[in-house]
Amino acid sequence: MSREIPVSKMRNFGIMAHIDAGKTTTTERILFFTGVSHKIGETHDGESTMDWMEQEKERGITITSAATTCFWREHQLNIIDTPGHVDFTMEVERSLRVLDGAIAVFDAVAGVEPQSETVWRQANRYKVPRICFINKMDRMGANFERCVDMIRDRLKATPVALQIPIGAEDKLEGVIDLINSKALVFDKASHGSEIAVTEVPDNLKDEYEIKRAEMIDAVAEYDEAVMEKYLSGEELSVEEIELCIRKATIAQDIVPVMCGSAFRNMGVQPLLDAVVNYLPSPLEIDQMVGIHVDTKAEVICESDDKAPMAGLIFKLFSDPYIGHLSFVRIYSGFLESGMTVLNSASGKKERVGRILKMHANKREEIKWAGAGDIVAIVGLKIAGTGDTLCDIDTPIALESLDVPEPVIEVA
Ligand code: GDP
Repeated sequence: MSREIPVSKMRNFGIMAHIDAGKTTTTERILFFTGVSHKIGETHDGESTMDWMEQEKERGITITSAATTCFWREHQLNIIDTPGHVDFTMEVERSLRVLDGAIAVFDAVAGVEPQSETVWRQANRYKVPRICFINKMDRMGANFERCVDMIRDRLKATPVALQIPIGAEDKLEGVIDLINSKALVFDKASHGSEIAVTEVPDNLKDEYEIKRAEMIDAVAEYDEAVMEKYLSGEELSVEEIELCIRKATIAQDIVPVMCGSAFRNMGVQPLLDAVVNYLPSPLEIDQMVGIHVDTKAEVICESDDKAPMAGLIFKLFSDPYIGHLSFVRIYSGFLESGMTVLNSASGKKERVGRILKMHANKREEIKWAGAGDIVAIVGLKIAGTGDTLCDIDTPIALESLDVPEPVIEVA
C-alpha cells in the first residue's frame, strides 16, 4: 500500500493549556479552518463564515476524539487530545508520549498560570517541541510582551516572538508577521476568514525592526550557510528564516511565540502554518525505543513502513455505534485490516479488524496505515492503555519500563 501523504508531511501534535485559556476554542477553529480549506469552492457561496461554522457545529465537530485528523497545506495533521485538567496527569503523560509537538495556549491576560507550568514541565520531560499561542488578545488587560516575559521567567524557556500584535483589547486588528515583514489584518466582515496583507504601519516600524532583529539573532546560528549570509549583512529570505526557526524549535532551544484571538478567528491560520513549518514530522523526532520481551534488548522502532510493526495503545474509547476503539500510535511498520498482531502486554495474538481515522465530522474507514500515523482499531479483544501492539516475530514493549516518575507538585 502506498501513502497519500508522505510521512514528512505528517504532524502529530497536541494542544496544551490551562483550563479556560482557550484550548477548546482554538481546536474548534483549527477544525473549522482546515475544513474550509478542504471545501473551498463548494456550496457555501454567499454564506458568512459564522453561518457556515454554525452548520458545521450542527453536524457535530468531534473535538472530543482522542485523535482527530485534518489537513492543512497538503499536510496531514493528527491532533491528539491532551487532557487539560491536572487530575489527569497520567493521561497527560501518555498523550505527550504519542505526540511529536504541541501548541501551548495561554490567556493573554493571565499569562503563565500554575497549571501551565505543570504541563510545561511534563512536556520538557518528553522533549516535546512547542509553539506558544497567546490567545485572548482581544480581552481587556491583554499584554503580549508580559506573556512572553512570563514564558521566559516562569517556564525557563527561550521564547522568540514571530509576530507583534497590531493593537490589543477591543482595538486588536491583527499581527505583524516578522518573517514576511507584512501586516496581517483580520477582516471583521468575514470573521477573520480573509486576511488582508499590507505593509507594516509607520507607528509600528521601530518595534518591528527591533523584534525582527531579535528573532533573527536568536535563530540564524541554526544553519551555517544562513549564519554566514547574516554576518555578511545580506538580507535573509523567508525560507531561510523559516528553516532556522524550524531547526531551533525541533532542537527545543527556542519556542516560537504567536498571538491572536481564537474566539474572533484571529491568528488561527498563521498558527496552522506554524504547525506545518516548525513542528517536526515523525521522521524528525528521536526514534522510539522498545524492549524485546524475551531478550530484554533494546529495539529501535524506526519510522519506516518496512520495519517490524510496533505501536502504542494510548487511549481506549467506547463508541455507542461502533463499539470499543483502541487509539494507536504506529511507530514503525504498518497496520492493515485483517492482519494478526501481538499484544505484548497480554501475550495474546489479535486480528486487526476495521481501522478508522477520526475527522472533525466523520469517521473514515481505512485499510492500511503506516509508520508515524495515529488510527483507531475497532474491537480488539484484549487491550489496555499502555499496551504495545507488535509484529508476532518481534515481541517488544514500548511502555512501562522507562515511564518517568509523575511530576510532584510543590505548593
Ligand atoms: P479551555 O478550557 O481551555 O478549553 O477554554 P475554552 O476554549 O472553553 O474557552 C474558555 C472561555 O474563553 C470560553 O467562554 C470562550 O468563549 C472564551 N474564549 C476563548 N478564546 C477567546 C478569545 O480569543 N477571546 C475571548 N475574549 N474569549 C475567548
